Amino acid sequence: MSFARKNVLNAVAGAILLTTPLGVHAAMDDVKIKATKLTDGIHMLAGKGGNIGVLTGPDGTFMIDDQFAPLTGKILAAIKEIGGEIPRFVLNTHYHHDHTGGNENLGNKGVTIVSHDNVRKKLAEGATIKAFNKVIPPAAKVAVPVITFGEEMTFHLNGETVHVFHSANAHTDGDSIIHFRKANIIHAGDTFFNGFFPFIDVGAGGTVKGVIAAVDKMLALADGNTKIIPGHGPLADKAQLIAYREMLVTAQTRLSSLKSSGKSAADAVATKPLADMEVQWGDGFLPTDKWIKIVYDGV
Ligand SMILES: [Zn+2]
Repeated sequence: MSFARKNVLNAVAGAILLTTPLGVHAAMDDVKIKATKLTDGIHMLAGKGGNIGVLTGPDGTFMIDDQFAPLTGKILAAIKEIGGEIPRFVLNTHYHHDHTGGNENLGNKGVTIVSHDNVRKKLAEGATIKAFNKVIPPAAKVAVPVITFGEEMTFHLNGETVHVFHSANAHTDGDSIIHFRKANIIHAGDTFFNGFFPFIDVGAGGTVKGVIAAVDKMLALADGNTKIIPGHGPLADKAQLIAYREMLVTAQTRLSSLKSSGKSAADAVATKPLADMEVQWGDGFLPTDKWIKIVYDGV
């Protein structure tokens, strides 16, 4: 397994498996936040959990996702290092705690938290990630988004037009995709795991078809120069997003045919329907058999 893949495995497994606060803190001590410059004002930050996007400039700092609470200090230090400040806004791409764990710390610093309507609902009321039996208690009030949207919204900051739009029933029921129009940069949230079978939160309304539809929306915006920040995995280009789409379409076709022939998830797994995809896509966080079980109700 390559270093990059191990990193993603750690990032995603950490998101799901670490349940005690002590465990989270111990595991976060060694995390370093790595900034990758995409343009003068836009960076990708990778640490542990979902990749962060940051837009900096004279109008203030705009941030996408905030990983885990114990990392907030390191993330804010990294933002300062690249010329930013305490963000004016943080946009949550979806409700998962490896993307929203810093909300409470940021809310306490006066950052305005923004999300799709359904993300606010899950954070405010609490939720369960059924695939992992992970219970997420209701968030503190200060961690709950104060501005929400249903279909789309636009931020006008630092000379950039930041178009945020919802794609229905993809990774969850509340995914946002962010398009920096001038810079030709897309933040995909968890509709894109670059190089791996993606976790799809079927219990929260996610579907494989919805992820494919989200990918199609991004492909329509992308050209050969577009930089794409995936929810997990290394920075991507359009060709990698196309490869990911092909994998999803093949999986959807084969699994939906097994499903319509009446096979249960366990029976479907036993036929090894995606055996030829294992090497390229299955050595990250989710091995092929496990991935099939997770998405089967969502094909
Ligand atoms: Zn997620």
